[in-house]
Amino acid sequence: MSLVYLNGEYLPIEQARISVLDRGFTFADGVYEIIPVFNGKILRPDEHLIRLANSLSSIAINNPCTSKEWRQIFSNLLADRTDDRNYSIYIQVTRGTGERNHIYDNELVPTVLVMCNPVNERDYSHGVTAITHEDIRWKYCHIKAITLLPGVLLKKLAKDTDGSFEAILIREGLVTEGASSNVFMVSEGQIKTPAKDGSILAGITRDLLVNLLQDNVPCCTEQKITEQELRQADEIWITSSTIGVVPVIMLDGMQVGSGKPGEIWKLANSIYESYKREL
Ligand code: PMP
Repeated sequence: MSLVYLNGEYLPIEQARISVLDRGFTFADGVYEIIPVFNGKILRPDEHLIRLANSLSSIAINNPCTSKEWRQIFSNLLADRTDDRNYSIYIQVTRGTGERNHIYDNELVPTVLVMCNPVNERDYSHGVTAITHEDIRWKYCHIKAITLLPGVLLKKLAKDTDGSFEAILIREGLVTEGASSNVFMVSEGQIKTPAKDGSILAGITRDLLVNLLQDNVPCCTEQKITEQELRQADEIWITSSTIGVVPVIMLDGMQVGSGKPGEIWKLANSIYESYKREL
């Protein structure tokens, strides 16, 4: 049976227990991280651990582990997974257990959960469909907070609208990101993605793709994307650690470009996939 790490112990998931007064449960007062593992290799562990440290410091929780300790937990959990499937490591740190009061005690001990789950190996290469929606989330989207209710409702709305996979979010006329992904678009051969200004999560896949495309023609620029530009895009892609780089072929029921995964996506995706293979 696979084990999870909870507060210093490795346990079967059925035996992993936390208090109902954990502030993650009562206030969604915590942060999380998801790190992909392909062919037994962790993709960009340092970048994920830096983002976790940033999320923790943004909400004033002391990082409960050093980088070395986090890596040790990952390798202990992965040692338990001997098949050749791909996995994602899920880390959740909450402020800890205390009286249900908005004002927290600075002495709380964070709750730390780490688990390793198989990745859904769905083939996204034929593209997915998306809807657009007003970005109804809070304004600190650079923090990877466990407060995910808007994302949960938006993904469900996308699915119920027309079986869509993602909701692409618009704030004051500008594209921010997907409910659980970053967004890229191509127009007249130019690749663009919104800049990291606090209204989006600094996606590790996004940053990697921007870097990989740096020496490429066309390269990717980080700049504002208007809703109108998105609707007229030749290609739209969404990115995340668990899905990679995925073409969006329909937006709000309308074809994106040719309605098929675009040529520039094929190029970008092959660069990203070969980076993963060469790990
Ligand atoms: N934005 C949001 C809101 C997300 O939830 C995610 C996935 N966790 C991403 C972007 C993509 O981030 P990453 O590439 O690090 O998975």
